[in-house]
Order: sequence, then structure tokens, then C-alpha cells
Amino acid sequence: MNLLDLLFPPHCLGCRSPGSYLCPHCTNLFSPITSAICPVCGKGSYSGITHPRCRKSYTLDGLISTFPYQGIVKQALMKYKYKLVYSLTQTLHELIITHTDFSPISSRSWLITAVPLHPRRRRWRGFNQAELLTHALAQYTHWPHSPHLLKRTRYTTPQMSLSRSPRLKNLTNAFMVHAPPNPIPYSVLLVDDVWTTGATLSECAKVLKRAGAKTVWAYTLARTLNQ
Ligand SMILES: [Zn+2]
Ligand SMILES: [Zn+2]
Repeated sequence: MNLLDLLFPPHCLGCRSPGSYLCPHCTNLFSPITSAICPVCGKGSYSGITHPRCRKSYTLDGLISTFPYQGIVKQALMKYKYKLVYSLTQTLHELIITHTDFSPISSRSWLITAVPLHPRRRRWRGFNQAELLTHALAQYTHWPHSPHLLKRTRYTTPQMSLSRSPRLKNLTNAFMVHAPPNPIPYSVLLVDDVWTTGATLSECAKVLKRAGAKTVWAYTLARTLNQ
């Protein structure tokens, strides 16, 4: 237990019982998402593969998400995103390993990378939650891992405060491939914490594909259901 946990003893985010951020009872309430969607049109798709009719040169090829972004998952993610709580991070990572079905992409090796934060925001927050996720996934899958393949080239308004079309505009030219490996990996798994409109992940996929990646799938810990 670290000093902060001693000074401010954690309470369960679900039931407020003292001792940890997720008690064993509430940890059992985490159930995986039951439907997969096409990352381009947002409609149902088998295994999260992009519909052939939605596929264009620079679009994502598929999307895997573990949990619906609601209830205790949402609370835990807010905590995870804005405050680095190691005990919670570890529990969340264990939960994704237990509940994620990677079978749609498990037939080959992927380079795992993260959606980057702007250095200013990363400094302010002290960490990038997507980058932490890539470590957990790499450990589990044994796929190669390069969390800093992409870089944010300009500071953008937080996406949460914008609706869909300003979101897309806000992200134009916001990313670049940073110190690209030569050749750029054929298959890239792009990681973020939450899928809402998918604008950020789609923009990152475009940048990776323009740089030469052939297949780009997205992975998010959670996904909103009402799109
Ligand atoms: Zn609880
Ligand atoms: Zn589609």
C-alpha cells in the first residue's frame, strides 16, 4: 500500500466498502460487452470487423472493446484516467485480460501502440492511460510493443467537450508517426481507454496507414453503447 492509500484509505467505487477501489463483490459485476460494431458506421458487425462496404484505404479494419462504458466500469475508468491509482490499474488490467476476446485477431502478431497524449497534457496528468494499457496487453499477448509510435503534433481541445463534427475537425493533422520504424509494421493494434465516436482512433489509423501500415485494428477497454 502506498502513502496516498494510507492517508486516504480507498473505498470501493461500487459499494463504498472500505479497503480497495474495487471489492471482490463489485469486481464480479464487470461483465464483457456482448455485441461488436464496425468502427466505421457503428452498426453491428461480426467480431468487430469493418464491413466490406465501409472499408476505404485509410479506415480502421476492426474494433475490439472489452466492457460497456457504463456503471461501475465508467466510474473505475474516470478514476483510472485522472488519478494514477496503481492498485486500481492492476485490477483493471487483470479484468481486461480475463474478459477480452482477442480471437478475431489472434492468428498473427500485431505491433501494439497507444493513442498519444500531447506532452503538455501528459506532464499535467503524469501518465498516459492508453500507454499503460499497451503494457498490459503486450504482457498478455507477447506481441511487440511500441507505445510511442504516434505523437501528437498540436494541443487539441479535449474531445469530451465537443460534438461529433467539431471533434473530427479538432483532430485534423493532430498526429504524426514519430520516429517510424523502417519498414512500418504491417499490422498495428491501436490502443485507447474508451471508444465514444471513434474520431481519435480513426484519425490515428489514417496516419498509420498513410505511413505504410496495412492493417490497423483498435482496442479499447470500454465502449459507449448508444451510438
Ligand atoms: Zn464493492
Ligand atoms: Zn460498417
